[in-house]
Amino acid sequence: MIKEYDTIAAIATSVSNAGIGKIRVSGSDAIRILDEIFEPYTPRYGNGYWPSHKVYFGNVVDEGEIIDECIVLVMKAPNSYTREDVVEFDCHGGVHVVYQVLSLILRHGARAAEPGEFTKRGFLNGRIDLSQAEAVMQLIESKNEASRQNSIRQIKGNIAEKIRPVREQILYEIAHIESALDDPEHISLDGYGDHLLALVQDWIDQVEKMLSTYDDGRFITEGIRTCIVGKPNAGKSSFLNVLLGEERAIVTEVAGTTRDTLEESVTIDGITLNIIDTAGIRDTEDTVEKIGVERARKEIEHADLVLFLIDMADGIQEEDIHIFKEIKDKKKIILLNKMDIGETFSMESLKDYVEDDTPCITISAKYRQGIDLFTKELKKMMFHGTIDEKQDFYLTNARHKNALEETLGSLRMVRGSIIDQMPEDFFTIDLMNAYEMLGSILGEAVGEDLIEEIFSKFCTGK
Ligand code: GDP
Repeated sequence: MIKEYDTIAAIATSVSNAGIGKIRVSGSDAIRILDEIFEPYTPRYGNGYWPSHKVYFGNVVDEGEIIDECIVLVMKAPNSYTREDVVEFDCHGGVHVVYQVLSLILRHGARAAEPGEFTKRGFLNGRIDLSQAEAVMQLIESKNEASRQNSIRQIKGNIAEKIRPVREQILYEIAHIESALDDPEHISLDGYGDHLLALVQDWIDQVEKMLSTYDDGRFITEGIRTCIVGKPNAGKSSFLNVLLGEERAIVTEVAGTTRDTLEESVTIDGITLNIIDTAGIRDTEDTVEKIGVERARKEIEHADLVLFLIDMADGIQEEDIHIFKEIKDKKKIILLNKMDIGETFSMESLKDYVEDDTPCITISAKYRQGIDLFTKELKKMMFHGTIDEKQDFYLTNARHKNALEETLGSLRMVRGSIIDQMPEDFFTIDLMNAYEMLGSILGEAVGEDLIEEIFSKFCTGK
């Protein structure tokens, strides 16, 4: 069962020495605790009199001893993050100081909050729906501008805006069918199939449209899982360094020394790449390297994008041909590296291995040339030329995607039943399923386990 709404407290800022350390308290005892431990400099406040949405300055006091000088914010229910009485203490941001104030608050009757419990209360108290609560976490985790903007729009409720009207229409039709079945004398279902078919098709279109944004949405928020491949010494580490703008990977002249995989996240022109730098793919007797090579194959399998570096000075070698085979079905960009010393490279030699639409870009990782062209190609390939930061909707959450896929499945069943002229009561079961699936995105009638799971991923104090 959901916990009693006792009063909770937690440090809401990161626990390290900083300018300010914030402690959040929420629940019906928040004001009482404030009254007991805080002495404001303004004498007219205190003794239970704390007007809402005001800032107070004074001391946190434990049995006469001043623990810290704080600024306090009071936000009374229902106009707060949790919809409960909320008191926030802005303390001096020393780890010890903040813990002392928190411990005093706990001694005065609050309980230490669980991760995400403040946001969870906001959800359980009806201030936000589940998709909005999830967007809070996504906003905190945003790695780039597009992700931030999308998260903010989701916090503002853009998912509910799309889903609610469809749900309402579905419910209306379920009610209509059921009343007609109950009262066939007065409510006729003649010609109803055609009417419902048009509606169902419209809902299917809307759900499909939402689902079609998922890949872009995922790439925006999570980044593109990118694998850099190429034979040893092709310049993989050098290229990774160019992208990272720092000497992180070890660049070496000995073939096969990038033994393991490195993973780095880099944002280029608004696109976040989660880059896995692998050891070169080639048959090898060296056990350590073999493991790296094995891993490279796995990484390729899971990658959204493969960047294949070819050493122009060497031309296409046996190993490159082998790699071409490995990455045949992947989204890829061919980077012809070492353009500074690769004048003899023949573009014709590529013809047998790459499809016409595979981008091939000449670069020099060492001299940082051709990188702009690469970025442009990246945008074209992954986001149809541009990330539309203003697009109002990107589906980014796997849970929402699964629910929409189930909805789509149910709606298609309804469509099939109508076309096959099945009896009307066949429609309602699948319509109800679609209705419930859409509701689950907003957190309606979802199990407590799911709620626990979602909020447990939050930070404490959020
Ligand atoms: P990896 O084994 O594929 O990771 O290759 P590295 O990045 O370690 O590079 C191998 C060697 O090629 C190093 O000596 C680099 O300095 C050199 N190299 C990398 N890119 C270029 C380039 O664009 N031009 C030239 N001339 N040398 C390069």
